[in-house]
Amino acid sequence: MTARIIDGKAIASALRAKVAVAACKLAEQHGVTPSLAVVLVGNNPASEAYVMSKAKQTLETAMTSAIHRLPETAGEAEVLGLVATLNRDAGVHGILVQLPLPAQIDAHKVIEAIDPAKDVDGFHPLNVGRLATGLPTLTPCTALGCILLAKSVHGSLGGLDAVVLGRSNIVGKPLAQLLLNENATVTIAHSKTRDLPGVARRADLVFAAIGRPQFVRGAWIKPGATVIDVGINRVASPDGKSRIVGDVAFSEAAEVAGAITPVPGGVGPMTIACLMLNTVRAAAAINGLPAPEV
Ligand code: NAP
Repeated sequence: MTARIIDGKAIASALRAKVAVAACKLAEQHGVTPSLAVVLVGNNPASEAYVMSKAKQTLETAMTSAIHRLPETAGEAEVLGLVATLNRDAGVHGILVQLPLPAQIDAHKVIEAIDPAKDVDGFHPLNVGRLATGLPTLTPCTALGCILLAKSVHGSLGGLDAVVLGRSNIVGKPLAQLLLNENATVTIAHSKTRDLPGVARRADLVFAAIGRPQFVRGAWIKPGATVIDVGINRVASPDGKSRIVGDVAFSEAAEVAGAITPVPGGVGPMTIACLMLNTVRAAAAINGLPAPEV
């Protein structure tokens, strides 16, 4: 293997430590303890695990958090009602509605109902628009985490050729927007892209966010490129158990890339650390205080 492994766990841990300092300062100097409200509808085991991990990390970063649970059968009005209550609660600075939601609930409606100032996922159309126009905003956590990981290798991304594989609202599109704001030259590829390997091979930075296990092969990577693997895919192991792999065929790509994120231990930890960052930023902004130095 030739690539440097980008240690997302260590970078996320350092970010959380800085966020904790910022949260303590807010509490000591201004009496504001950043607080996150997580809404969990139903019993999806993966969502349950994410939510518990988020709750644990808010405590580790000197914030408070509350999980608001609704049953799988909850109606849209019930979810919207809870969001309205959290919007009005001056003690809540961040609201996160865990996705996916059960089929009877329109996720777009719920996202639009969140107060944009408390939208720590950065999915509200107003925040999406602010990101697109280069205004300061709450930025989607996974995309922000990817940028921080790429910058841990390159410092500046200005002028680099970046290819984002995937165009979801949650990852691909905001990531492309952030890369543009970082002055990278950006290509977004998706399921209708012709010659995906050729497109990827042009890139100094490859971001894979397609949700297909080990889909991106070593031969798709330009020698020395940086590879950020967003994918989280559960696959069967030969021993009958299951394991998590990314969207990139790691061992092949690591032979060619200059730097690469592992899965697990790459983008995943950064996503939650960036949620903590957004929560402390939201708490400061809501209270008319300057953005914390993190
Ligand atoms: P998504 O909403 O399903 O979007 C997948 C995107 O990939 C779509 O734009 C799709 O293209 C494209 N795509 C699918 N198959 C393709 C193919 N064969 N060739 C080229 N493009 C293809 O997924 P997502 O929510 O963005 O998530 C992507 C992956 O990241 C998943 O594995 C997810 O679990 C993971 N994830 C990780 C984190 C983290 O914290 N690490 C956070 C969020 C997501 P079309 O638009 O043309 O359909």
